[in-house]
Amino acid sequence: MLQVVAVPAFTDNYIWLVHDEASGETAVVDPGDAAPALAEAQRRGWTVTQVWNTHHHWDHSGGNIAMKEATGCTVSGPAAENIPGRDVALLEGRELRIGDHAGRVMEIPGHTLGHVALIFEADRIAFVGDTLFAMGCGRLFEGTAQQMRGSLQRLAELPEDTALYCGHEYTLANGRFAAHVEPGNGAIARRLEEVAQLRAAGKITLPTTVAQERETNPFVRASSWEEFARLRSEKDSFRS
Ligand SMILES: [Zn+2]
Repeated sequence: MLQVVAVPAFTDNYIWLVHDEASGETAVVDPGDAAPALAEAQRRGWTVTQVWNTHHHWDHSGGNIAMKEATGCTVSGPAAENIPGRDVALLEGRELRIGDHAGRVMEIPGHTLGHVALIFEADRIAFVGDTLFAMGCGRLFEGTAQQMRGSLQRLAELPEDTALYCGHEYTLANGRFAAHVEPGNGAIARRLEEVAQLRAAGKITLPTTVAQERETNPFVRASSWEEFARLRSEKDSFRS
């Protein structure tokens, strides 16, 4: 079994520690800052052997070099992007291993052009970076609306009990926008209430699941790329 632990970083980032008890290996997903990730691994007595990056943004890869210097870990990141300290270039279909657990790389462009998801299908776990957020999606910094919608659709086609680990705690703001664009959607209203309570208590709202996103994420639910593009630009200027 893989154990996944959230490490908060900066204002709203999550770095994910992935631990395989059988092999004793630990991977760190998107260490924008090495210090909190190393501190949490040390606190748990875990040895970091790998870093996995979903995309090049500094708040996801800025700690790569320090992680490598501190642990001698191997860094895997998107082949198409400039990843500090990268040892292994990730392309569609490439296998990623931790202990006996095999994951695969899915290219999901839109937020950045080389953005990848890391999918451990047998474990029902996926790391989706800044492409899909709970009830929302990433901004289109490099890619097009068509690309981003295609990427979200691919993630939404994963088994519905797959846990999705996103790069940021944006769920409350996303939920307010979702309720604004789908006022008649009871699943969104209920989830927004739950999320508001969790955040008021200072608690994390992730991971989400494929099933939840199919029901409550307007960007996943958009029926065409044109509708997706309209929602994305509306969200860019939405003030809740
Ligand atoms: Zn990003």
